[in-house]
Amino acid sequence: MTSRIYYTDPYCRRFEGVVVRAFEHDGRPAAVLDRTAFYPTSGGQPFDVGTLIEQGGSNEQRGTLGSAVQVIDTIDQDEDVFHVLSAPLTVGARVLGDVDWVRRFDHMQQHTGQHILSAAFDRLFANRTVSFHIGADVSTVDLQKEMSWEQIARAEDEANRIVSENREVAIRFVSSDEAATLPLRKEPARAGVLRLIDIKDCDLSACGGTHVARTGAIGAIIVPAIERFKGGVRVTFACGGRAVRVFRSLRESVAASVRALSVHPQELPAAVERMQAEAKELRRSMKKLQESLAAHEAARLAAPVVIEAIDGWDANGLKVIATEITSRTSAVVALFSSSPPFAAVVARSPDRTVDASAALRALTQRFGGRGGGKPDLAQGGGLFGNLEEILSAARELLR
Ligand SMILES: [Zn+2]
Repeated sequence: MTSRIYYTDPYCRRFEGVVVRAFEHDGRPAAVLDRTAFYPTSGGQPFDVGTLIEQGGSNEQRGTLGSAVQVIDTIDQDEDVFHVLSAPLTVGARVLGDVDWVRRFDHMQQHTGQHILSAAFDRLFANRTVSFHIGADVSTVDLQKEMSWEQIARAEDEANRIVSENREVAIRFVSSDEAATLPLRKEPARAGVLRLIDIKDCDLSACGGTHVARTGAIGAIIVPAIERFKGGVRVTFACGGRAVRVFRSLRESVAASVRALSVHPQELPAAVERMQAEAKELRRSMKKLQESLAAHEAARLAAPVVIEAIDGWDANGLKVIATEITSRTSAVVALFSSSPPFAAVVARSPDRTVDASAALRALTQRFGGRGGGKPDLAQGGGLFGNLEEILSAARELLR
């Protein structure tokens, strides 16, 4: 049974232990120590990494250090914690452990922040936390019920008040009988001795994770996003250095948008709305213009067989011109855009027998792209190749 140093001393980052078991795990060397400060993945908190260094065992070697073995993964297995390693360790060897503190302390901030945030959701809105996960950049709390942004902001305020009061985060061990008499936020899932995390006058929960000693160490708790999830809501949150990074990334996005639109940050939503309305209006007037121009183009091109590439028309415009021609005279028409990837429209008047859709299919088979339609009108796009070759192929097909 591994003695878990982090249960009682979560701030321990260097420790000594003895290798009691060595084996392979998924083709990699692994070892169990008699005691460890490395946290194994559990309860939403990811594993610790770091190094283990074997110390010399014989008299002449005593006091010398071997080379550092990387701890790649730390896994909880029943009573033991084992470490997946970059190189094997010798059973009986004394090792010095060194936990990657930047990673671990970040997890401690996120984990303690989660307790406080969950407690705020619970206390203010009777909304229970179903599960929690610390991710690589942000973390999530899944709540039973939906929440509005206004409620999220209130919970965020409450959580940050508790952070700023720098309250004590105590670790207590109690029997499950004793725990039954305490106001735990959540029913404990296991029996026997329970480890409680007691954030003064804020949260009392059974938890095996690592936490900061006082709430001030969390720095800040922010909620950058929420989304509906399984009838409730998934709350994305970030604490400490992660909160700063989230802010920085938002600042960069806002700054780039502000530069592009030449407005103040507060004016962004209105500016985007205005642009969308303008774009919609432009599309509408362009469609009208295209239609009247299409009539002119159709009159200019009208002939029994029209095979042309024309400048400045998109697929929709080509279609308007083609149907304009085929509706006013007896004609077979194939129109293309003038630059690749080429748009293509094939059409015919009702009195002609050419299969427009088959002709287009033959073109896309030869020049790439895709398209489809009916015997009297087919359109496609994404054709590549020499435009002259495409035009002469169309002439052959529609002869
Ligand atoms: Zn916890």
